[in-house]
Amino acid sequence: MILNLQHKYKYKMKVLKFGGTSVGSIANMKMVKDIIADNEKKIVVLSAMSGTTNALVEISNFIKNDHIENANQNIEALHHKYVAVINDLLDDEALRQDVEIYVDSVFSFLKICASENHSQLLYNKIVAQGELLSTYIFTVYLNQEGLNAILLPALDFMRIDKTNDPDDFYIKQNLQRIIKEASPSNIYITQGFICLDAYGNIANLQRGGSDYTATIVGAAVNAEEVEIWTDIDGMHNNDPRFVENTHAISNLSFDEAAELAYFGAKILHPQTVMPAREANIPVRLKNTMDPASYGTLISIDFKGEGIKAIAAKDNITAIKIKSARMLLAHGFLKKVFEIFEKYETSIDMITTSEVAVSLTIDDDKNLVSILEELEKFSTVEVDKQQSIICLVGHLVVRHHETHRLFKVLQDISVRMISYGGSNNNISLLVNTNDKITALKCLNHYIFDGVTA
Ligand code: ADP
Ligand code: ASP
Ligand code: MG
Repeated sequence: MILNLQHKYKYKMKVLKFGGTSVGSIANMKMVKDIIADNEKKIVVLSAMSGTTNALVEISNFIKNDHIENANQNIEALHHKYVAVINDLLDDEALRQDVEIYVDSVFSFLKICASENHSQLLYNKIVAQGELLSTYIFTVYLNQEGLNAILLPALDFMRIDKTNDPDDFYIKQNLQRIIKEASPSNIYITQGFICLDAYGNIANLQRGGSDYTATIVGAAVNAEEVEIWTDIDGMHNNDPRFVENTHAISNLSFDEAAELAYFGAKILHPQTVMPAREANIPVRLKNTMDPASYGTLISIDFKGEGIKAIAAKDNITAIKIKSARMLLAHGFLKKVFEIFEKYETSIDMITTSEVAVSLTIDDDKNLVSILEELEKFSTVEVDKQQSIICLVGHLVVRHHETHRLFKVLQDISVRMISYGGSNNNISLLVNTNDKITALKCLNHYIFDGVTA
């Protein structure tokens, strides 16, 4: 009964996000057009064309390092690329001219940026141009193809607060108002990644953030589903960049997907699952180049048991804190945690022994100050360049096949193991140099010859 009522109040709307590769070529843009050209009402979130954000980051770095000539050369090269795209994509003369004017204005703006002093705000302004370009060009292309697509500027409704979390209330109020005021359409297009900060300056949701935009938008309009369209057929059981013969997983729970995203599965920005989980909106991962394949459905349901997938997160720092006394005294852990709390540094893994505690952090911005404080009452060892390998599934800890993972210990030196913290996750800490071997070994011991 309650479920039915919830369903009744959901907008009949989907949110579809297309990543860099999906809008990265004329051929792929045409495929995206075919995917969205049905009669369902939808908000389409677009990334920048693949390669553009990296190119913009490089331009920003040139400006930062005072290599203005290089920055200007790269701005020109990128401009030529866009001129070629619009020439190939748009055969309607009037529409092409309109887009040319817009594209020229973006590149003139970038030239102005190249003459300014570098700052975080300048970087934010520069990297925002990729999504502004892709959405403008793609909306006009859809119009040329006879589709009534309307561009809703993300900066009119996407905002983060002082702690860099999405300002849900503001986003919901503004997005719903903007949709109400816009001309009726089945296709609203908006930019992924970019937003305003709490002070009204241009900001972003960090690299890969368009996925996060999609679920934030999905929650704001109470969408019936969020679809993340990318260049692979769903969440694979291991990182396909490093391991051969991985396969897509058909179903994941919100918790499982959140762990995989947080621990490095690049297909999803680390925060993507949170807004969807809170609003109970299913998220489907789909392949733009193969729309018929099932993909991965992320929902509240748990399906299957045992280890389903493995992901790895780099740039981890391990800190071993030995008590100055022989044993970990009462209150020792409290003192340790208070220091990390003071420097707003979150801890990912933790293990203890009688005399020491080992933990990991991924944000080492305040490491020096943290170490100074820890050394007042303990001996500290730091290992950088570590990777967390995370094994995720339903009831993994209890599953009868889970013991296979320990065979990896005969091939790789494992620095820490976190087992039993939750029923759905086991984490290993290895030296980053051993990561790929560890991923391959785990794949062999856990998945080879085992049907998923
Ligand atoms: P997009 O530009 O569409 O956002 P991304 O490059 O950010 O695409 O994410 C898709 C890529 O993520 C895949 O091409 C794949 O190489 C990589 N990837 C890493 N881990 C996984 C995984 N477990 N499952 C699927 N893809 C993964
Ligand atoms: N264009 C941004 C990036 O490359 C955001 C995204 O693609 O999700 O990081
Ligand atoms: Mg991505």
